[in-house]
Amino acid sequence: MSKALVLFSAGQDSATCLAWALTRYYQVETIGFDYGQRHRVELDQRPILRAALGAWRGADRLGEDAVVDLRGYGALAESALTADRAIAMAECGLPTTFVPGRNLVFLAVAAAHAYRRGADTLVAGMCETDYSGYPDCRAETIAAMQAALRLGLDRPALRIETPLMRLSKADTWALAHALGGDALVALIEESSHTCYAGDRTRRHDWGYGCGACPACDLRAKGWRAWRAKRA
Ligand code: ZN
Repeated sequence: MSKALVLFSAGQDSATCLAWALTRYYQVETIGFDYGQRHRVELDQRPILRAALGAWRGADRLGEDAVVDLRGYGALAESALTADRAIAMAECGLPTTFVPGRNLVFLAVAAAHAYRRGADTLVAGMCETDYSGYPDCRAETIAAMQAALRLGLDRPALRIETPLMRLSKADTWALAHALGGDALVALIEESSHTCYAGDRTRRHDWGYGCGACPACDLRAKGWRAWRAKRA
């Protein structure tokens, strides 16, 4: 199996993607982005969650990590995720948390890093099921980006894997369970970070968060739906 680079933010989705990649590729590296996100606490959770996942499955498989400073881009693409603005629905029908082109920028930067590191697969947690209307999470967008990167980097074998694309948030918990049972689920509950408000003071059964923002809401609903299915 080839070498993969996982876009790893320390959220539930990218944690599941990293676990998925660790079961499939002989070598896995990670990349994260500082784009001035309000929930910067996720950057602090990255090394903690990475170490836990490395210990869970093959510390020998988990290679280097890189954090890229994209604060200039974040300032340019100001949204409720990067500036002190209310999280709500905007007139265009997208949440104010939408950062224009975020996944396109992340994938282009990740592809440049993968090129240098000799990785031919990018693994990313985009998901069009619960995607809040973000147009850069659609399968069609990712397929077009893969085609552009293959051409632009002259890497016809480059692949973008999005194992969560068709999954609901409940399915994502189920995937974590299928990959690593209760131990992996407990690890993701405890150490991944999803909350847009950056709250790690309140612990719920589904993990830490304010419990009120759209990200907490999705995570909590998915967790409860998965638990209900198991019961
Ligand atoms: Zn929250």
